[in-house]
Amino acid sequence: MKVKKDIRSLNLKELCSFFESNNYPAFRGNQVYNWLWNKSCFSFDEMTNISLELREVLKKDFVINHIKIDKIQKSIDGTIKNAVTLFDNLLVESVLIPVKNRTTACISSQVGCSLDCEFCATSKLKRIRNLNPDEIFDQASTINLQSKFYYNRPISNIVFMGMGEPLLNYINLIEGINKITSKDGLGMSPKRITVSTSGISKLIIKMADENVKFNLAVSLHSAVEKTRNKIMPFTIKFPLTDLKEAIKYWYNKTQKIVTYEYIVWKGINDDMNHINALVDFCKSSPSKVNIIEYNKTSNDFFISADDSIINKYIEELESNRIPVTIRKSRGKDIDAACGQLANKLKQ
Ligand code: SAH
Repeated sequence: MKVKKDIRSLNLKELCSFFESNNYPAFRGNQVYNWLWNKSCFSFDEMTNISLELREVLKKDFVINHIKIDKIQKSIDGTIKNAVTLFDNLLVESVLIPVKNRTTACISSQVGCSLDCEFCATSKLKRIRNLNPDEIFDQASTINLQSKFYYNRPISNIVFMGMGEPLLNYINLIEGINKITSKDGLGMSPKRITVSTSGISKLIIKMADENVKFNLAVSLHSAVEKTRNKIMPFTIKFPLTDLKEAIKYWYNKTQKIVTYEYIVWKGINDDMNHINALVDFCKSSPSKVNIIEYNKTSNDFFISADDSIINKYIEELESNRIPVTIRKSRGKDIDAACGQLANKLKQ
């Protein structure tokens, strides 16, 4: 049997050429493209300005792969977690986070994750595959609809803080973001998009060279090499000195301030040595720090530090003029908070 191609893997030019080579006018390509991207249409039969005959031609060669929301869970704080089924029945999760007058979509970039951050539930799932650009786009467009439905407003921000390491799915990530920001897609400003990475230096440099317009967040969690290697073992291959240089390079090229994500744990990084190392690290290029509340996973080794030491972190950062914010967890009661995405719904 002929394997049908996913029509959404074609760009506009390729789609128009398909029609031309089948002796149809090229503008049909524009119409179909519009259905696929502007209208998020998932069925050829809904493309009402395309003739029946032409729809059959399309069905013969193509399928429209798209995500399906399998199950929705709503938190008491308004956060909504979606279990997203992909065309091959694999599952990822994406989250809608409403705060005052903003709504953020937190989306996944991979099925599972190849990294081994000991404190993150997703890292316990093997990385199975990268998400395609349209699967990245679909999560954003689906959450956008959900936001309009539940909160009467479109999403205002997107963070790549769901499952997976976005930079290890680089090409699809960039293509997905291009779709989200383009007129054909959601027309969203890249300034409202943040890609969070565990710190793959080479790819931070690549993004800087490509002069991307979205924001960068780096999951630092410790500026002491030995500690970082222990809690994120893969970082043995990605030394902090390289990361520091890559971030400097990023800032020089893009003039964008990096955000460091940082969790403080009891007995791990709750001392002055770690505070000083963080302050030093932050001074190497303009940056701000987001202290993230730790969300419990099955690893009992990690326990949130006392407030007194978190306050000490804040005090030291502020006295060195490094902006710092504390990010409260959202959606904890439904395991939708950072680091808790682990497809529990299917288990
Ligand atoms: N792989 C990317 C993006 C996914 S994780 C990255 O590492 O940045 C998104 C954020 O959640 C990261 O800052 C990550 O370190 C953090 N995180 C992971 N587990 C967590 C947990 N249990 N509690 C709070 N934050 C967690």
